[in-house]
Amino acid sequence: MDLLIDVPVLVAAKQKMPMIKVLVEDPRAGEVRVKMFASGVCHSCLHAYDGSHATPMPMILGDEGSGIVESVGSGVTTLVPGDHVIISWLLNCGTCPPCRDGKPAHCWAPSPFGALLDNTQRFKNAETGEPVLHYGPATYAPYTVVPESSAIKIRKDMPLDKAALIGCSVTTGFGSVTNAAGARPGESVAIVGCGGVGLNAVQGARVAGANPIIAIDTSDAALQMAKKFGATHLINASRDDVVAETLKICPRGVNHSIAAVGSTKAMQNGVEILGSGGTMVILGAPPNGAVLEIDPIFILGKERGIRGSKYGSSNPHVEFPMLIELYLAGKLDLDSLVTGNYRIDQSNEAFEILAQGGAGRGLITFEQ
Ligand SMILES: [Zn+2]
Ligand SMILES: [Zn+2]
Repeated sequence: MDLLIDVPVLVAAKQKMPMIKVLVEDPRAGEVRVKMFASGVCHSCLHAYDGSHATPMPMILGDEGSGIVESVGSGVTTLVPGDHVIISWLLNCGTCPPCRDGKPAHCWAPSPFGALLDNTQRFKNAETGEPVLHYGPATYAPYTVVPESSAIKIRKDMPLDKAALIGCSVTTGFGSVTNAAGARPGESVAIVGCGGVGLNAVQGARVAGANPIIAIDTSDAALQMAKKFGATHLINASRDDVVAETLKICPRGVNHSIAAVGSTKAMQNGVEILGSGGTMVILGAPPNGAVLEIDPIFILGKERGIRGSKYGSSNPHVEFPMLIELYLAGKLDLDSLVTGNYRIDQSNEAFEILAQGGAGRGLITFEQ
C-alpha cells in the first residue's frame, strides 16, 4: 500500500525546498521500505541544494540515515519488519564480483542517479502523480525504499539517532584513514578540512594509533572540535601557511594527508605536505569542473601518491557493525559530532547553517 508522507523536495537550486505530499510505493522484489528515524545533514546534499553539483529535479535529498524496516519486497531474505538498519548510500547490486568482494563502491551495476537499481522511482507527487527522484537513498523521506543490500542491520540497543551518522560522514572519514590510507601506529596523518567527514578522519587516525595527527581548517571552532576528537596539532589555514607549519611539526612531511573538503587549494596543500612515499586521499568533492594542478616531478621523485576514497573505501556490511561496537565500547565519539538538531521541515535551515561552515554535524530526527 502506498504511504503518504510530507517531505522537503528540491525543486530548484538555490531555493528553499517546499514540503510536498508524496506517495511512497511498496518495496519491489529485493527492496525494503524503511521508516526513517534520523538523517544527518551532509555536504553532498548541500552541493545539490546550492547548485554547485548539477542535479535533476524534483528530488528528495538525504544520504545519511537510520531507521526501522517497515516492509520487505519479495525475495528479501536478510531483513524482516522491525529490524533496525543504517542506510548505505551506495545503492549497489550486492551480487557482482566487486560487491561479492566487499567493495560496493566498485559495483558493476549501473547506478542511475535519481532512481533505484531498476531505473524507476518509488516516490510520486501525491497531487500530480509525477515521479519524484531519489538522491541515492533519499533519507529525508520519512519512509524510503532502498535495495536490501543498502539497509544494514544493526543491534537494537544502538541508539538510532547516533547510528544515522555512521551512514555517511563517520564511515567516509574513519575509513579514509583506516582503509584507504591504511595508517599504522606512529605514522603521521594530516586532515585538511575538519567538517563532519574530517572530524571522523581525525577519529580514524586516533583509533589507528597515528601520531602526530594534524588538523587543518579555516575555522577555529572546527579545529577545537578536531582537538576533542584526537588531533595533536592544529593549523588555521586562514591565518597560517599550511605547508610551512606542517613541516615544522613533521620536517620530512607527513605519511598521509586526507583532503576532507572539496577545495582544490586544500588539496594542493595536501599534496605539498606529503613526505617520501606519502599519499593524499581525496574525500571532498569540489564543484563540477574544478581542476587540480600537480607537479609530476614532486610525485615521481619520492614516490608520493594521490588516490580517491569513496565511502571510506569500506564494506558497509562489515564497517557499520564494527563502528557501532567501537561506539558502544567508548572508543568512537558520535555524541560530540551532533551540533544541531532539526525537524524534517527545518532542512532548509540545516543547509544554511552547514553552508556557513558551522562545526560538527546537523541531525534531523523524524516524528515516531
Ligand atoms: Zn554524505
Ligand atoms: Zn554490485
